[in-house]
Amino acid sequence: MHDHDHDHGHDHDHDGHHHPRPASDIELRARALEALLVEKGLVSSDAIDAVIDRYVNDVGPQNGARVVARAWTDPAYRDRLLSDATSAIGELGYAGDEGHTMVVVENAPDVHNVIVCTLCSCYPWPVLGLPPTWYKSAPYRARVVAEPRAVLQEFGVEVPETTEIRVWDSTAEVRYLVLPMRPEGTEGLAEEELAELVSRDSMIGTGLPQTPAAR
Ligand code: FE
Repeated sequence: MHDHDHDHGHDHDHDGHHHPRPASDIELRARALEALLVEKGLVSSDAIDAVIDRYVNDVGPQNGARVVARAWTDPAYRDRLLSDATSAIGELGYAGDEGHTMVVVENAPDVHNVIVCTLCSCYPWPVLGLPPTWYKSAPYRARVVAEPRAVLQEFGVEVPETTEIRVWDSTAEVRYLVLPMRPEGTEGLAEEELAELVSRDSMIGTGLPQTPAAR
């Protein structure tokens, strides 16, 4: 996938930027800032590496998946999650930067929710980790608002005409997480097994949870 090609059809690797490409302006600025902070003795490169490592390896969509699976199995938790997402998510130990004020939006047969940041790349880090490249792309940010049904189709999500699509615009203050519908045929599954069905994209709204049959 080339850098100018932000088409995110479902056949593509959504995170894929396998071709070498020149560093972006922001990347160059970030590197320059890091170098300056290290030079001035304000931070160590190790400390910065530790933060990046944490969000790449320890904090990721598996956190959000646990939240979703808990909501599917525990109605009281689901209620708390929908009324005060920040503290309900905090109950499971997920909190912090880029997630200080969380709102969970619940899918239903007549409502499908999708999240975006139309301005930049705001994303709920404590529950989903770092945003995928396509989430930060200008075409996704513009098109999911203008033509959500078409964008979801490209991700392989067919939303029935009778289902309303709600698009939630994240901000520096408020970060959203989609609570997808529990798939059919999962009645016998334990919470941990359910969590394995919950994909990152299903919590953004550009995907659906897996079904046990598809695994
Ligand atoms: Fe943003």
